[in-house]
Amino acid sequence: METIKNLIIIWGDKSGRFPFSNSVFIADKVKTVIDTGAGQDNLEQLSKEVGLVINSHYHLDHIRYNHLFLKAEIMVHQRDIHALASLTGFAKKYGAKLVLGSDWVENWERGIASQRNIHPEQGFVYEPDFYKPIGKVDGIYSNEEQFSFGYTKMDVIHTPGHSEGHCCFFFPKQGLCFATDYNIGSEFGPWYGGDDSDIDELLSSAQKLVDLDAKYYVNSHDQKFFTKDEFQKGLRGFLDWIDAREEKITNLLDNGYSFIDLCNEGIFYKKKYLVLDWVLIWEVTMLIKHLQRLKKSELIPKNLATAMAANMSPFPSPGR
Ligand SMILES: [Zn+2]
Repeated sequence: METIKNLIIIWGDKSGRFPFSNSVFIADKVKTVIDTGAGQDNLEQLSKEVGLVINSHYHLDHIRYNHLFLKAEIMVHQRDIHALASLTGFAKKYGAKLVLGSDWVENWERGIASQRNIHPEQGFVYEPDFYKPIGKVDGIYSNEEQFSFGYTKMDVIHTPGHSEGHCCFFFPKQGLCFATDYNIGSEFGPWYGGDDSDIDELLSSAQKLVDLDAKYYVNSHDQKFFTKDEFQKGLRGFLDWIDAREEKITNLLDNGYSFIDLCNEGIFYKKKYLVLDWVLIWEVTMLIKHLQRLKKSELIPKNLATAMAANMSPFPSPGR
């Protein structure tokens, strides 16, 4: 935990790794938490006194403990509201419908509704309560909106790309930018595995963060403060992952790889994790984003869900 003038940064459990993330508590007149991924023990006490929860976007590691905040109004950016409002909207935006189709989504929803553990291969964590925050959202905020919590003021910086409604937050009085999923120290690189992700938007949104008059940057998964200089340098390396991945895909295509071959290659995630449906969904969606960028869309099978179902059979998936 670190404090700068009314802002308390709560580092997420398990070093802030997915499915956790860092939260920011604004200890001011309007007690507010930005993102609820820091962990149950970190947030339980706080949840009783907080009146407002602002989610930077709809991804699970950022909304993870929204349901603890019983008295709070839950807000998300207007372009992410459908993903937080229903499981169907969530699965669509997160890429599930695109890659595995409506039947898979219905089956997944039934598993959650029945309160039974969903099949291990359908999830990256298996407790049904993981999806509890989805379905409760009370309000929206918009691009460049300004919040006043008392002494503390906050500017919304809409940074689409990672998700359509992805936002970062700038606190001018503290000189701090909460750069959410611009996780410059990440061993994974930028993530754009949602149906609503956009690589070029992710790149151009990054410039907005550099243009801020910020002294310090904190993001959602690195557990340290960065100076502006460090952030700028780190950001360049972080965004370079995109070109490196694109080059790899281009080389594989030159070597005659088909779409399904590329899906099996583990370009983004380690191969061993592709047995998990959600990981496969994100792997394939990220690949599709690159193929569209390379204008190679004709390689993507017309019936993607059928092609993926056939593709998934070689993986050892118990119970399928
Ligand atoms: Zn995210």
